[in-house]
Amino acid sequence: MPFILLESYDNYMTANMRLQQLEEEGIKAYLQDEDTVTIDPMRSNAIGGIKLMVHDEDLMRAKSLMAELDAAYLKSFPCPKCGAPALQSVVETKKAINWLSSILSWAFGSYAVPVSYIYKCFECGHEMKELPTRPDIQENSL
Ligand SMILES: [Zn+2]
Repeated sequence: MPFILLESYDNYMTANMRLQQLEEEGIKAYLQDEDTVTIDPMRSNAIGGIKLMVHDEDLMRAKSLMAELDAAYLKSFPCPKCGAPALQSVVETKKAINWLSSILSWAFGSYAVPVSYIYKCFECGHEMKELPTRPDIQENSL
């Protein structure tokens, strides 16, 4: 009965929130390397962060649940320009690719070029790098 990596996180609050959301849906899951990352956050990158593991039978359900939660989360942020709750995360497409990434993608395929995500309003087309701050979220509520 193998467990499979669903997502990984560099902070334990997000990891625990996700774990709880899965468990509320009756999906068996656990966190791997939580202690290591919490005690020594500098090592998080080296070991790949806190890993949220789910049973392979639940993987598809867990993935669609995560996608739903992400979409619902983004909808709670109104667009700073038009106010519509229509934000989605999209892969940033760069019009002018610099010479290094051209060479990298030529040599290794597109996987070598780091992908960055931006947030885009699908109502007015406004794009932003960071989510607008929401006054009702307390960053350090623990
Ligand atoms: Zn907008």
